[in-house]
Formats: sequence, C-alpha cells, structure tokens
Amino acid sequence: MTTIDNLPPLKIVIETHNLRARKSLGQNFLLDLNLTSKIARQAGELKNVDILEIGPGPGGLTRGLLSEGARKVLAIEKDARCLPALEEISNKYPGRLEVVRGDALDFNPLVYLNAPIRVVANLPYNVGTELLVRWLTPEDWPPFWKSLTLMFQREVAERIVATPGSKAYGRLSIMAQWRSDPKIVMSLQPDAFTPPPKVSSAVVHFEALPEPRFKANMQVLNSLVSTAFNQRRKMLRSALKMISPDIEDRLKIAGIKPTDRAEKVSLESFCALARNIESE
Ligand code: SAM
Repeated sequence: MTTIDNLPPLKIVIETHNLRARKSLGQNFLLDLNLTSKIARQAGELKNVDILEIGPGPGGLTRGLLSEGARKVLAIEKDARCLPALEEISNKYPGRLEVVRGDALDFNPLVYLNAPIRVVANLPYNVGTELLVRWLTPEDWPPFWKSLTLMFQREVAERIVATPGSKAYGRLSIMAQWRSDPKIVMSLQPDAFTPPPKVSSAVVHFEALPEPRFKANMQVLNSLVSTAFNQRRKMLRSALKMISPDIEDRLKIAGIKPTDRAEKVSLESFCALARNIESE
C-alpha cells in the first residue's frame, strides 16, 4: 500500500499501537491512504478551510485530509488508545491537526474552528445518524458547516437521498433535502474496511443551501414528518390526527390528499402543511 506522507503505513500504525478494532466503538478502519485521500477530495476545496473530523481512529482519513491541503483538522476521538498514533500525525503537520479526546455527542467544536468549516468523517455507525440529524436541524440556517462529507451504511445513504414513492423515503430524506443538497459520491464494499463490516457503505456529500428550499418552521416540520413516517402505512388523515383536530382540511389546503400515505408526499407539500399547522 502506498503512503502519501512518509508516515508508516496504517497496518504498521495499528500493530505498533495495538489498536485492535472494538465493535462497541463502531471501529471499522480504512487502511488504504489512496482511498482516504479520495474521500478527502470529495469534500471539495480544502486549502482555506477548517475540517471537523469525528472519530479519526488510527488517522487514515485525517492523513488524507492533511495531505490534500486542509488548513486545519480538528479531530474528536473517544478512544484514548488512538491518541499516540494521532500525535505522530500532528508532529508531521505542525499546527494543522488538533486532537481532542471526547464524545462527539457531548462536544461543542465551534470554539476550535474558523469558518469556512467542512465536516468530513468515517462516522461510527452507532452515533452517525444522531450526529447527522443534529447538523441538519439547528434552529438557525445557514449552519456552522459549509459541507458534510460522511460515510454511512449504504442503506442509510439511500434513505438520505431517497425521493417520494420509494421505500427508503422518510424523515431523513426530508430533513436532509430541505436545507442541503445531498449526493452519494462514492460506494465502498465491506473489504475496504478492517475489519470488514457486514454491509456495504457509501459516502454522502451534503452542500448546505444558503436557505431552506421551502419556507417552514424547523420544529414543526421535523415533528410533522416524524409523526407521518412513524405510521407510514396509515393514511395521513389518520396518521396525523393527533397533530391537529382539523388535519383533513389542513391536508387539503396544503394540496395533499388526506388518503395519501407519507411516502407519496413531496418535500414541498410537507413544508406547505407545516406552514399551515404553524399558522393555527
Ligand atoms: N476515521 C477512521 C478511519 O476511517 O479509519 C476510523 C473510523 S471508525 C468507523 C469510527 C471511529 O469513531 C473510531 O475511531 C471510534 O473510536 C470513534 N468513535 C466512536 N464513537 C465516538 C464518539 N461518540 N465520539 C467520537 N469518536 C467516536
């Protein structure tokens, strides 16, 4: 395997620091630095950009980001065993890599970063969706990030980019496509990872839109689509009846047939319904 930075190959790093992957931390490492550099390039221009990376592990993607020219990488890692390996990378790129040991779910990275900020991560599967939903649902828009370039299980990636009428279409599709432009930019087979996970993976790149595609209150839209898709087999007039007693009229005003199911309704129509509910 080629190296991109004169640091030891990742296989050696893992052996030297005894980084046996732990399932409880969602550890499936990428060892091919050509591949991690390719993922880094999917994020777009990196030269004058700060990067937030969640879960650097032994540092494969971190090295890809730095060798591709990222101005600064802030890497948040829960597993203390990875810190010595990450320190070696930091020494190789003075002043450009800051590593924080912590849980990404409890950590505010903004004090460490300057705009423009891109988020790039081979996310731990156990917290990936939760982090994504947080990044997509701040009260104010535009968010702190300019883009997200994230590895997911293929099935999650398909839910993010799904369109009405498909089984994968749901809350994640709506919340992602309302305020950003998500695209699957790479597909990876299990053997790209060590150890290989059971399922295929995909990298999704999201560009934040300057403003949401359609006007709606985030809280109202989020709770509306959660309720609608929690009972996705029910007709909307019954799935949404706890949201408003006159939901049938509201659906009609929003241009939605009360007998339709959530998976048929477009993002634009959900936003129209959210506006109508808010105007109560
Ligand atoms: N970036 C590395 C790579 O591509 O080889 C490792 C990716 S591995 C899928 C996920 C990483 O996230 C692991 O290093 C794991 O220890 C770390 N991790 C798991 N849960 C975390 C959390 N809550 N906060 C921060 N890091 C976490």
